[in-house]
Amino acid sequence: MYSVEKIRNDFPILSRTVNGNKLVYLDNAASAQKPLCVIEAVRHCYSHEYANVHRGLHHLSNLATDNYERVRGKIRDFINAGSEDEIIYTTGTTEGINLVAYAWAMNRLEAGDEIVLTSMEHHANIVPWHFLRERMGIKLKWVDPEGDGDLDPDRIITAIGPKTRLIAVTHMSNVLGTLVDVKAIAQEAAQRGVPVLVDGSQSSVHTRIDVQELGIDFFALTGHKLYGPSASGALYVKRERLTEMRPFKGGGDMIRDVSKEVVSYAGGTQGFEAGTPAIVQMIGLGAALDYLSNIGMDNIARHEVDLRNYADQKLRDRNWLNIQGNAPNKGAIFSFTLDGPAHPHDLSTVLDGKGIAVRAGHHCAQPLMKFLGVTATCRASFGLYNTRKEVDALVEGLELCRDLFS
Ligand code: PLP
Repeated sequence: MYSVEKIRNDFPILSRTVNGNKLVYLDNAASAQKPLCVIEAVRHCYSHEYANVHRGLHHLSNLATDNYERVRGKIRDFINAGSEDEIIYTTGTTEGINLVAYAWAMNRLEAGDEIVLTSMEHHANIVPWHFLRERMGIKLKWVDPEGDGDLDPDRIITAIGPKTRLIAVTHMSNVLGTLVDVKAIAQEAAQRGVPVLVDGSQSSVHTRIDVQELGIDFFALTGHKLYGPSASGALYVKRERLTEMRPFKGGGDMIRDVSKEVVSYAGGTQGFEAGTPAIVQMIGLGAALDYLSNIGMDNIARHEVDLRNYADQKLRDRNWLNIQGNAPNKGAIFSFTLDGPAHPHDLSTVLDGKGIAVRAGHHCAQPLMKFLGVTATCRASFGLYNTRKEVDALVEGLELCRDLFS
């Protein structure tokens, strides 16, 4: 039985006040709060089990290495990868996608080749491809969503041409909440020999992920949105793609041999994990994944669907709010603007005065803002600890904004 009150007790920050009001935290799409088990895992590691990993032969180094490496299996289970050998540790989705750009795409693509992407992408899934456009002459082929923010997989599939070498697509828009049918895209892409990279930064928090069932080649996730520490994350790389990648970050821990003349690289994922990693953060992510698995991703998804439906009905009842995106399959993320002179930043400031944390701005999605014909929106995003009462508090806060700015 899903008890949101019990879950809230696991998150100490939720009982604090902000500007004299009980905190209502609705900025989960930017970063989620941390449960006690994650905080405790980090504290315990630094207090009792910390040393550098993979290097030492002493007790603490072996202990830290075991704890750190054990997380690879947890990530594998969390996204149902075929093997731990397909999981590269990263500092988040941004690093994961850049890794695909530098280690895979730069090694495989040439001038004139195309990458298909959508106007709904976060800059993390745009800028690395612009690098390739600027530096290698790669062409970017953009696919727009429908007016309601839905993305028909056929739009992507029909954009695939003889020069398409990669499809880079979000699984869930961080602005509109749209869930994209990446399985349908991957099925058609595979028949045409085109790999698919999925930005799972948002989707992995809200739905159960099975990368094998989705049939995709790369999947990037971010630990700090998954209730884990910042600077933790992972990139799933299908085994056959791993053999097509060349290391791009050189340094300690990723070599087989180094001499003055030549260098050879460690095989598998190790070749992509140079330098001292985010040891404690990854151990914290392991605790977060345990926490999510114990609650059950299907239960979390059900709770969030309930919140989405409730918020959808409440917000759409207010005809002075312009809600962006109404895809039939969407998660609990709402972007909106207010009729009249108020800028989204104004809304955010007024709501903050009531202890309600939302995000305002372009959400690192400027091409989408252009498509929507706005420069910014206000965004409320829900997580596993949010309640219907908090939706009510948001609506009340927005009514105050309407009264102030009309
Ligand atoms: N992709 C999406 C859809 C996001 O929402 C975000 C963060 O907001 C990112 C990528 C980047 O994640 P990070 O900055 O944690 O690497």
